[in-house]
Amino acid sequence: MNFGLASIALLLCCILLMSLPSCAAELPPNSSGLQRPKSSPAMKQFELERREMVDYQLRDRGIQDERVLTAMSKVPRHQFVGLSWRDFAYSDRPLPIGHQQTISQPYIVAYMTEAAKISTEDKVLEIGTGCGYQAAVLGEIAKQVYSIEIIPQLAARARQTLSQLGYENIEVKTGDGYQGWSEHAPYDAIIVTAAPKHIPQPLIDQLATNGKMVIPVGTWYQDIVVLTKTQERVVKKKTIPVRFVPMIRKSRP
Ligand code: SAH
Repeated sequence: MNFGLASIALLLCCILLMSLPSCAAELPPNSSGLQRPKSSPAMKQFELERREMVDYQLRDRGIQDERVLTAMSKVPRHQFVGLSWRDFAYSDRPLPIGHQQTISQPYIVAYMTEAAKISTEDKVLEIGTGCGYQAAVLGEIAKQVYSIEIIPQLAARARQTLSQLGYENIEVKTGDGYQGWSEHAPYDAIIVTAAPKHIPQPLIDQLATNGKMVIPVGTWYQDIVVLTKTQERVVKKKTIPVRFVPMIRKSRP
């Protein structure tokens, strides 16, 4: 490739990255005001980038739960994206994973995981497996993770990546996550990573008492809603504004 073509390719790449609409938050400022330092070109480049991601994108923006920070510093995010996106794997943005879907920005993965208040004995349901990255982060913390993906090719690829990385506590099924996965209910936490217009009732039904659901709700403009189910009622709290891909519905109830 000559220099001119390479520049055009780089420019197109940047435009595509800047225009990705989904799974991104309107971010709180980086409180330290520090510039992200350049990574060393050493062999452990990805590990270094991951550590920087945890410090500058997560800790500095207020993620405090050490279990979440540890999980995010362990999961090799670059293994979940296509080869051509690997160099961007730890950047502060969502990335394409094929089939017009995206892997969420690291901050959003951490924010949702922290909001779900997951502990080591928990059984967690994720809707929207995508490439399997969020499932892996959940799998680092929870006892068992069930994840549903509606696009069969993505479900198959996520299954393969997760098994190659040795996650034995994550099960992925192909299907419509709106209906949940009643066989394994109730769940201590439910994380939804595609945005429905309203909170699916089957998911509320499948949430355990004292469980939490973290879910982006809305159409073009969405908010992450944190829903807590108590013995008596369901409490919903709108939190940060986000843009996720819409929840796909095959048949509407
Ligand atoms: N959590 C994913 C990213 C989510 S992108 C990750 O870490 O990579 C949203 C995903 O939700 C997409 O893969 C999309 O295909 C899936 N999705 C959309 N509607 C769905 C539905 N009704 N049921 C299950 N998955 C759905």
